[in-house]
Amino acid sequence: MAIRTRFVLFEASGYGWDRAEDARLWPSSAQMCPYCNRLRSRTSLIRIVLRRQPLDRPLGSLVWRVYVMHERLYDLLVRWLDGSGFVRCPLSSEVGQDVSRLVCGFMLLRANLRAGPRSVFKYCPQCGDPIYRPVGREYVFAGDLPDKPLIGLSAGELLIDQSVRKVVERAKIPKLRIREVRVLDEPRDGRGVLGSDWTCSLPPDSELRNRKA
Ligand SMILES: [Zn+2]
Repeated sequence: MAIRTRFVLFEASGYGWDRAEDARLWPSSAQMCPYCNRLRSRTSLIRIVLRRQPLDRPLGSLVWRVYVMHERLYDLLVRWLDGSGFVRCPLSSEVGQDVSRLVCGFMLLRANLRAGPRSVFKYCPQCGDPIYRPVGREYVFAGDLPDKPLIGLSAGELLIDQSVRKVVERAKIPKLRIREVRVLDEPRDGRGVLGSDWTCSLPPDSELRNRKA
């Protein structure tokens, strides 16, 4: 079995924004799956409103798998982000914080870190999309990965290749770290391809209402 390596770009403190009370969606929370919190829209019409004071971090993620990154990091990555379906969302704050240098959005291409046979896999009872929680030593499965130098990861990190890694390391952005992750040609959890399209398949409530009408 061939073993290759990719790299995970993550925020060094391990403290993201990944809590529901840290932000809200506008126009409403009807834009996300009530069970798995996956966004139910592929558009940038969703506005993200931060409810807490800023974290001075280059990279973080919100509970709906929305990325928040400092513009310096965004500028560095934008050419790859664009190629991986990064959808930018308007961002504002209701606690008066300056968000002018923060960029917010979600990735249409995003894979899971996978692990051993005890990993948790199920389908969301609301939207039917797969939910995966790795248990054991993590890797990415080659069959899940599109041929892109950068894609999202389900935990709010970014999966990058060697070319992106070089650019990020040269920039020396504080509080940003990179770790290696193995790329396996066969998954070790007894599952097949999970793929990399992790936006919710359930349309927003507004579309459902229109269909019923
Ligand atoms: Zn769901």
